[in-house]
Amino acid sequence: MSCDHPDLLPLEEALGRLWAALPAPALPEVRAERDDPAMDLAAMDGVALKASEGRTPRRLLGTLFAGDDPAAFEVIPGTAVRIMTGAALPPGADAIVPVEELDSTGGAVRPRVDPEAGDHVRRQGHQAKTGDLLLPVGTTLNAARVGLLAMAGLPVPPRPRLRVGVASTGNELVTHPKPHQIRDSNGPMVAALARALGAEVELRPALPDDPATLAAALLHPGDLRILLTSGGVSMGDHDHLPSVLKEIGATILFHKIRLKPGKPMLAAILGDLLVLGLPGNPVSAYLNALLFLPHALARLEGRAAPDPWRRARLTAPVKHKGDRPLLHPCRLVEGHLQPLPGQGSADLITLAKADAFAWIEPPGQEPGGKVRYLTVL
Ligand code: AMP
Ligand code: MG
Repeated sequence: MSCDHPDLLPLEEALGRLWAALPAPALPEVRAERDDPAMDLAAMDGVALKASEGRTPRRLLGTLFAGDDPAAFEVIPGTAVRIMTGAALPPGADAIVPVEELDSTGGAVRPRVDPEAGDHVRRQGHQAKTGDLLLPVGTTLNAARVGLLAMAGLPVPPRPRLRVGVASTGNELVTHPKPHQIRDSNGPMVAALARALGAEVELRPALPDDPATLAAALLHPGDLRILLTSGGVSMGDHDHLPSVLKEIGATILFHKIRLKPGKPMLAAILGDLLVLGLPGNPVSAYLNALLFLPHALARLEGRAAPDPWRRARLTAPVKHKGDRPLLHPCRLVEGHLQPLPGQGSADLITLAKADAFAWIEPPGQEPGGKVRYLTVL
């Protein structure tokens, strides 16, 4: 029988708490600094003419390209100007007849259709009038809004420089391990993951299981915005991180989530520092970094919450006895999830073979058909 606590925080709620606790960079209000378009512009390549003259032939006065000053020409009765998409309409013209709808002879053209005023013209102020609100205050930045700021002649805020630190914890972590010791694999692994997610990463030396040393490292993070630790968040006598964080005044966002592996996961805010306390077991550390770090980076950079889940069918059922959702290592074979014989949260060897982790609901809650999965980075 499982001894899981039924009140463990579901993953989605933990992600939601993290999201809500972090500030997103917000833009000031953005208003149109001029009409958009600022003049009537051609929406097609063709000729600019006066629509009321109908299909009568027009003598061509010249050509306007995008960016040309349209005052170079004046469309008087019986004339037209060749015009390219994006060029401003010359005085006297009120419609564009596209190349495809023109008969051309020498220096003259004749429309094959009856033009109407406004045809194929992007009217001045059609999209916005000077002073119109384009984005309300507090909007977050994305690539489209960068374009809008550039269009409005406003400075584009630089991408926030987020330094991410990685520090493992554990007295057992040494460079040249005796049989009762191990190397720090989580540190380099989590740092590589953070780099793959585009973060600026600093891999720090592993910290001993000593409350005073842990407190000093947390209180003096340097220029780090996020610190990912691993280990020291479970129930052992040396798992000091939760109590140290509380003692030095951190706000614990959550500790322990409804997930297998990865239950001991902790997140805390200490001043400007976000601490993501990953469990020590390598698969737990990896999966929680993969789930929580992209969320934190997206929020702090002002992007939308990422959705890393895809769906596929399992080639074989995965046995699952506990009452937490299980993330099970799989190979992706022709779009199907082939479960690997995983040995649990300490099994870095299987993690290194996996392409993906399938989300297996506790018994009785199997969805049937496709299951959701995370891709390994
Ligand atoms: P802990 O959460 O600190 O109790 O660690 C759980 C398990 O993960 C223990 O077997 C640790 O030895 C192992 N572990 C902790 N940190 C690391 C690390 N940085 N690299 C590899 N294994 C680790
Ligand atoms: Mg430990």
